[in-house]
Amino acid sequence: MPRILITGAAGFLGSHLCDRFIDEGYDVIAMDNLITGDLENISHLRKLPEFTFINHDITEHIHIEDNLDYILHFASPASPIDYLKIPIQTLKVGSLGTHNCLGLARSKGARILIASTSEVYGDPQVHPQTEEYWGHVNPIGPRGVYDEAKRFQEAITMAYHTYHGLEIRIARIFNTYGPRMRLNDGRVLPAFIGQALRGEDLTIFGDGTQTRSFCFVNDLVDGIYRLLHSDYSYPVNLGNPDEISILQFAEEVVQLTGTNQKVVFKDLPKDDPTQRKPDISKAMKILNWSPLVDRSKGLKLTFEAFQKLSLAELNKQDHRNFKNYSKK
Ligand code: UDP
Repeated sequence: MPRILITGAAGFLGSHLCDRFIDEGYDVIAMDNLITGDLENISHLRKLPEFTFINHDITEHIHIEDNLDYILHFASPASPIDYLKIPIQTLKVGSLGTHNCLGLARSKGARILIASTSEVYGDPQVHPQTEEYWGHVNPIGPRGVYDEAKRFQEAITMAYHTYHGLEIRIARIFNTYGPRMRLNDGRVLPAFIGQALRGEDLTIFGDGTQTRSFCFVNDLVDGIYRLLHSDYSYPVNLGNPDEISILQFAEEVVQLTGTNQKVVFKDLPKDDPTQRKPDISKAMKILNWSPLVDRSKGLKLTFEAFQKLSLAELNKQDHRNFKNYSKK
């Protein structure tokens, strides 16, 4: 069976990818240092003989015994709250961590797919965003640590391709949602659902006219699967182009949860992109892929997963302890 290493495997996307590749008959090596990931996300896989978990920080040398066919590099804090708390670690995992993954791919003769992001476009001045757009990023703003790490990640991955002939794939992932998102990671969907379930007002940052386009996780995972098996080495946008303002999104969540909550307006964080929507023509053409789950269905599935949480879990403060990493 083919053997794949997934970094960031205990995270939201990583854990769904583990599920998919196990289902497809792969031998999965799941790696995570559990700074933002959670073993709970992969607990159902841990007894399977074709699944191995390794607790490792990929900014240090990565050692894998025996052969390896593929690497999916998904390790990184991915929420603005997280990367504000651990900015140096965010930069290191995107740069040193990627370098280690590339070196490993090269030594094993493995194909590597890296998780890039719509954040490489920054606060975009081209709308919708095509892969040809170079972006509008503030390197020293609060999001710079993530955006620039991901831009460096693309650059070094492309250099390994052109210089060493490494087989690479680059996914530019737009906002994705679904079960296993961390309730308190600051992202808008878990924030709204958590607030609705706790009976709190929904917090809108700014006036809520900023837009996002939300993709259900199963669609995204399918796009990643297809991209990995394609023969295309350049960046491909993966996301759902169904764009919505954050204010409308809050209204949809209120309607879905039937909670009748009010919205309150808070300050807009610095450099918060005003609009975001992927142009997915390339993915449609090259991968024969487009999202199948519309927002009403995806939101319902996500809400049902969150509804299973107890009140104690809903009220629990985020248990992740960043203090050992914040100064590195
Ligand atoms: N947002 C909001 N209220 C919240 C959390 C986020 O209005 O409680 C806004 C945030 O300012 C941004 C959008 O929702 O404009 C999406 O935020 P998220 O952190 O989910 O993703 P990103 O900004 O990285 O796209």
